[in-house]
Amino acid sequence: MSSDKAIELAESYGAHNYKPLEVVISHAEGVWVTDPEGNRYMDMLSAYSALNQGHRHPRILKALIDQAQRCTLTSRAFHNDRLGPFLQKLCAFSGFESALPMNTGAEAVETAIKAARKWGYKKKGVADGKAEIIVCADNFHGRTTTIVGFSTDPQNKDGFGPFTPGFVIVPFGDLDALAAAFNDNTVAFLVEPIQGEAGINVPPDGYLRGARELCDRHNALLICDEIQTGFCRTGKTFAFEHEGIRPDGITVGKALGGGMLPVSAFLASWDVMDVFHPGDHGSTFGGNPLACAVAVASIDVLIEERLSEAAEAKGMYLMHQMREFGSPHVAEVRGRGLLVGVEIQASSGPAKPFCKALKRRGILAKETHEQVIRFAPPLTITVEELDHALKHIGDVLSGQIVDGVLLPANEA
Ligand SMILES: *Cc1c(COP(=O)(O)O)cnc(C)c1O
Repeated sequence: MSSDKAIELAESYGAHNYKPLEVVISHAEGVWVTDPEGNRYMDMLSAYSALNQGHRHPRILKALIDQAQRCTLTSRAFHNDRLGPFLQKLCAFSGFESALPMNTGAEAVETAIKAARKWGYKKKGVADGKAEIIVCADNFHGRTTTIVGFSTDPQNKDGFGPFTPGFVIVPFGDLDALAAAFNDNTVAFLVEPIQGEAGINVPPDGYLRGARELCDRHNALLICDEIQTGFCRTGKTFAFEHEGIRPDGITVGKALGGGMLPVSAFLASWDVMDVFHPGDHGSTFGGNPLACAVAVASIDVLIEERLSEAAEAKGMYLMHQMREFGSPHVAEVRGRGLLVGVEIQASSGPAKPFCKALKRRGILAKETHEQVIRFAPPLTITVEELDHALKHIGDVLSGQIVDGVLLPANEA
């Protein structure tokens, strides 16, 4: 099927809840993807960090196929022989005592919210119905009605109310504002260690350490949403490690599924997790043996290929080279590890034309909000592949804007 036909069908029958870049991917391997016409592109987005191990990693693919030939789904009405080893591996890898497996990231966040509230009522002694969770402005935690209810992006909410009460919003990165938001009913502070969707916002040094202290002082849980920042993306196994702290719980997803399946979890100490009793919470597909086998292989690849170290070294190189371009269109290059945002100057217009120009040069990246291009390639990317991408990124970032059209440098 041609790219045009594929797009036409998707537009004709699919809800128009996305506006994808005009590229159809039919084959993929490592950092490379190919369209039906045979054009090759480098994937510098990695499905928002769900492809940290690269497309179709052979080891994860083998785990998927092997398990698919044995047993794929049991539901949690029965035990399966893959769940225990998966939970053990995930806990050992993350340093948390216990895990509750789900499928999508939003479900992991919902699980964290339920855990925090129930912990507040059963352990902290908050009066029934009064629990408050502090969240940050410009957060992104998923798309359920509860989660979009505490978004500050008007589009995420418009037309979807009424919303779940019990959330208090503070500016991201501001410890004074956070301190002022606590009260006796506060059960948790839910925060992304680096805000991904908001434009790769790295908080000031000491922010998570300060948040940890405030949560301790007010007997509230610190819960980090590591769905995008976790699994080696920022140069550490989890982004909270940059601050030398340990949250009470974290949500994980995306790369846990190795780019093959949706696999997510809420991880916590037993003091939090033991609020859940049989029947309190669950998911038909959560903890299914196929997902467990894939997730174990996904973690093994992160460890054995030392992808934290790779992300740190290559992220430093990528950001350094991008700053060296000295592009007049770039307001800032920021990020950690291989989670990098390039903010385009307002005077140079929005980021989208830059992404379109990159696509014509065979580099796939997507703007987040209006002004920021997110670069988050698979962590398996080689230095040669990075240099290939950088050549085109450099040409695009030092291009000229003529009548609103971006003309990259060195155009053939
Ligand atoms: C992607 C993401 C989610 C939601 O994950 P889904 O699998 O799309 O539901 C939640 N939090 C963060 C930080 C994310 O990046």
